[in-house]
Amino acid sequence: MNKNISYVFLKSLIFFIFIFLLVSFTYIKNLENIYTNEINNSIESELNLKISTAKNNFETLKKDLLYISEVYELNKDYSTIKKELSTLLALKKSYMEICFLRNDGTKLLEIKKKTTNEFATSKYLSIIKQLKKGDIYLSQIVLKKENKNITNPRIPFLNVITPLFDKDKPDGFLVINYPLTELFDIFSNSNFNLETLVINKDNYILNSKDEELNFGFIFNKNNTFDNIYKNMSIAISKSLNGSLGTLKTDDFHVNINEVNLTSWVNKNALIEPLKLKLVTIIDSNLIDKRVNTYLKTIVWLAFLYFLIAMIISIIFANYNTREKETRLRLKISDKMFENSHDGILITDRDNKVQRVNKSFTKITGYTEKEILNKTPKVLKSTGYHTRLFYKNIWDNLNEHLHWEGEITNIRKNGMPYTEELSISKIYTEENDFFYIASFVDITESKKNKKMIEDKLEENKTYLEIINDYLITLKVDINGKILDVSDAFCLICGYSKEELIGHNHDILRHPETPNEFYFSMWDTIYSGKKWEGEIKNIKKNGETYYVHTKISPMYNNLNTITGYALVAIDITDKKRIEKMSVTDELTQTYNRRYFNLTIEKEILRAKRDNKTIAFAILDVDFFKQYNDTYGHDKGDYALQSVALCLRETIFRANDFAFRLGGEEFGILTTDITATNFRKILERIRINIEDLNIEHSTSEASRNITVSIGGIVIDAKNSTSVKVYKLADKLLYKVKNAGRNQVLVQEV
Ligand code: GH3
Ligand code: MG
Ligand code: MG
Repeated sequence: MNKNISYVFLKSLIFFIFIFLLVSFTYIKNLENIYTNEINNSIESELNLKISTAKNNFETLKKDLLYISEVYELNKDYSTIKKELSTLLALKKSYMEICFLRNDGTKLLEIKKKTTNEFATSKYLSIIKQLKKGDIYLSQIVLKKENKNITNPRIPFLNVITPLFDKDKPDGFLVINYPLTELFDIFSNSNFNLETLVINKDNYILNSKDEELNFGFIFNKNNTFDNIYKNMSIAISKSLNGSLGTLKTDDFHVNINEVNLTSWVNKNALIEPLKLKLVTIIDSNLIDKRVNTYLKTIVWLAFLYFLIAMIISIIFANYNTREKETRLRLKISDKMFENSHDGILITDRDNKVQRVNKSFTKITGYTEKEILNKTPKVLKSTGYHTRLFYKNIWDNLNEHLHWEGEITNIRKNGMPYTEELSISKIYTEENDFFYIASFVDITESKKNKKMIEDKLEENKTYLEIINDYLITLKVDINGKILDVSDAFCLICGYSKEELIGHNHDILRHPETPNEFYFSMWDTIYSGKKWEGEIKNIKKNGETYYVHTKISPMYNNLNTITGYALVAIDITDKKRIEKMSVTDELTQTYNRRYFNLTIEKEILRAKRDNKTIAFAILDVDFFKQYNDTYGHDKGDYALQSVALCLRETIFRANDFAFRLGGEEFGILTTDITATNFRKILERIRINIEDLNIEHSTSEASRNITVSIGGIVIDAKNSTSVKVYKLADKLLYKVKNAGRNQVLVQEV
């Protein structure tokens, strides 16, 4: 059971329970009363029925009596009467004891089946003599006797008497000994198995199931109703003398009724009435028992009720939910159909349009009304598809019940459009079928797709160019290389595999100081771009230079995840730059670079309020060396001197220049004369210690140099002045014997 079903089921069941409780409270609560009343009413109506039956019998009796008397008055002859009454007497066996009396009470005629009963009319002769024509007299009830003994079984009867007349002159009486067995039977038979006692005016029981109790006035004068039913409440026994109706005690319900037999047959008020009381005693237990039985029935009924309620609830829940679901599904389907972005077209088995949605109208321009019951052929555009194309669609639909593909149709306004179409052939439960076609207009998207494809192709070319020619690198926050371009691989000599996933330190040149990188990372990781030249090292150990722009990379949370680097190779530029400032033979800075540098350094020192130190170094007797050892050896000697010079000065701001021929310049700043002298002296010694033999030198066995240097406050200096002063000092050194250093502070 799904959730909806159980919900409806529960709802329905609660409804049934509610109804049950309502009925229970209003009905079962009063069940006893209701049932008691019901029994009482039933008993009462049964009694009424008995009485009216009895009354009917007596009325018939009266009619019969009057009829017999009429027959007698006309014939006065027994055999004729018997003949005349044969049918009546055959039917009414109780009339077999009929007697015609004379006015004095003596018998005139007697019809008796079995002659046993006495016609003891003498007792009331004086009364019946007063009867008028049509009057009926009922005697007191007596028991039938045979041979002066009461018969067994006891048969109560009464004399029913009517006077006879011969032309208004009293002419005796007609008497029927009427047995009351039938009457008592009527009273005692009950559908409720209840006994109705017949009691006479003296409170003697005339009819009850226990025969011993009947006719107490004959057999036992103590057997009055009161004595026998002593155990019953006094109120009841008293009531027999008074009120009629139903009386209730805890143990009994007693219904008391009175019938006046005389009044049924006679209206003559003078005639003493024959009254009988009918007492029906209903044991309370009976009611309880009935109620219990009833309650049991109710319990069963309740059980049955709940069973049925359950079944109804389940059926109802199922039906209701199904129906609701179906309704909902239909509603959803309808909404989906109407609001679908796809154009939808439904055609019947003859491919006649039955329904289209809004999108269909929007795309094709045709409203449902315009296309209803037409075939979708109106949408068919000529020249776009072959006949075979359409045949293929139908073949697919018939065979696979489905076709999808692109098709070009024509709008109402004549413009062609391309749609992505899907058609399904759908069979109904009745084995009928219809077609559903849904489509999306892809004219625009096709155009866009083409445009995007072209753009992508273009971009791809660009990206390829970038990859091939642009040096790019992506590095994460930990320095791990994420991506490099082919151009990068080409310049550094590593393959992509060797770089991606490795640390960017792999590219770092050992000569680049840490401070350089620290300041660079500071810039990038504070979110700024960095631009500058970086000296890197190739896989093969060669140096290369790149001019780079480095930008930080961010993630969605705007935190820096690494950096992206774009660079251009400036190694060649660097080389050319270097070449333009380097002396080719000695690989020291050239004269041109000296001219630039001295100006710059003087300016800088002036700004910083510092000293400028400059010295000129000249190889001693070098002309002779060339002459002695040849020009090539001379060149080599110059290279050795230059190398030694470069190696001896190692401060960052110390420069060595070849000023020309065998003359070199040494330039530095922010130094005392003493320290400058120390450096120059070391240079001089180191060169002599090169042990380059110079046999024709007058200064030493080896090649030596003379150095003249000055230390001057930058403020007071110009490049010319500095140069001249140093040159002057060199001249002095030469004259003083060479292989010496002379430094002056100006
Ligand atoms: P001193 O300086 O001691 O007075 O004597 P010197 O012989 O060195 O004097 P001078 O300056 O006149 O001679 C310089 C010589 O240096 C002239 C030239 O033969 C030589 N020289 C200059 N340039 C080069 C060069 O590039 N290669 C070689 N091999 N020799 C050079
Ligand atoms: Mg010279
Ligand atoms: Mg010289």
